[in-house]
Amino acid sequence: MRGNILTVNGGSSSIKFAIFASGNSSADPTMMLQGQIEGVGYAARFLARDASGQVLADAALDRAPGHLEAFRYLMRWLEDLLPGLKLAVAGHRVVHGGVQFPAPVLIDDAVMRALRALEPLAPLHQPQNLACIQALRELNPALPQVACFDTAFHAGQPALATTFALPAALTAEGIRRYGFHGLSYAYIAERLPQLLGPQAAEGRIIVAHLGSGASLCALKGRKSVASTMGFTALDGLMMARRCGAIDPGVILYLLQEKGMSAAAVSELLYSHSGLLGVSGISDDIRVLLASPLPEAKAAIDLFVYRIGRELGSLAATLGGLDALVFTAGIGENSPEVRRLVCQAATWLGISLDENANKQGGPCISSSKVSAWVVPTNEDLIIARHSSTFLADLRTTGLLATAAD
Ligand code: ADP
Repeated sequence: MRGNILTVNGGSSSIKFAIFASGNSSADPTMMLQGQIEGVGYAARFLARDASGQVLADAALDRAPGHLEAFRYLMRWLEDLLPGLKLAVAGHRVVHGGVQFPAPVLIDDAVMRALRALEPLAPLHQPQNLACIQALRELNPALPQVACFDTAFHAGQPALATTFALPAALTAEGIRRYGFHGLSYAYIAERLPQLLGPQAAEGRIIVAHLGSGASLCALKGRKSVASTMGFTALDGLMMARRCGAIDPGVILYLLQEKGMSAAAVSELLYSHSGLLGVSGISDDIRVLLASPLPEAKAAIDLFVYRIGRELGSLAATLGGLDALVFTAGIGENSPEVRRLVCQAATWLGISLDENANKQGGPCISSSKVSAWVVPTNEDLIIARHSSTFLADLRTTGLLATAAD
């Protein structure tokens, strides 16, 4: 495939993007630059760096742009910086693909309608993901756009791992566990043979994606067999602002006895819980780790305790544990959180190598059951899916080669 690939990860107030040069058929796309527009909708700031981390742009946008204006700014900036830029495809991270989309899909009107119907299942992310797609469609209707789903990596999980103990009719209509952070897990699963060796990579592995959203995924044969996130990205671990697993009776109590509205409960569970809610101080674990206040310690203790419990649960589904991998903002950057989690996993056979942990790994254990730090790269997975997908469509003649 010739031309460049734009990858987009649209959040509630930020748009992360990257430009890749497409590789030849055997090579991976190469990242040329990446950046983000923060504060979309209020005080926007544009930041971009080249592949070596050199700052290419750092500017406050003079008004409060929505998604469409933010993309317009990005496109103008790209044209000025790279006059030869020829976008062949845009690939988007889309959080929820439901049962309908177990693999990347080329976006058209019908796909947009189906993805909009899934917005209530991921209210923090899906509307923003789709706003980015819509903005690009308006700016460049001829550009093929591919949706890459966080749910897709988990699509092959066994039915036992995905089924709630609810009437079968509800399961049949899609009320089941899906799992998220799949683009991150797909990248880690690919890196495992290089790091652990080809045989060990196929073993019983738990990946801990610990960012502002957080989840664990159990891998066997490098395939997802269980994960802590479920029907929505609210389940499982305690997160920056999300509560994670909670007795559904609490929600009934809040609705029926406390008279809270469904919207207020939703706001509570998604935005005022987790590290922020428990500490009352911050949703950023760096702030809590640096704080002398007991509330900060209580929040960190609960965060680690919940990870420890879920590790036990996923290890049970795997019938044991061969390796634990840390990734994402907290997992990659916080030796203290990794130390505490490994301490909680001592019974599973993990013994931490303190020095290696302080230095950031990749291997941070001195035991047979190993522990690792592996930086994730969701953008590369999106770029690869998008270019492969487009190349396949062209081979089969389903897409004109106008962008070439
Ligand atoms: P998301 O993509 O879900 O927003 P990230 O994977 O980017 O999340 O992770 C963001 C989180 O990473 C933030 O909550 C921040 O506290 C945490 N983080 C970033 N750097 C560090 C660090 N050096 N130590 C601890 N936590 C960190």
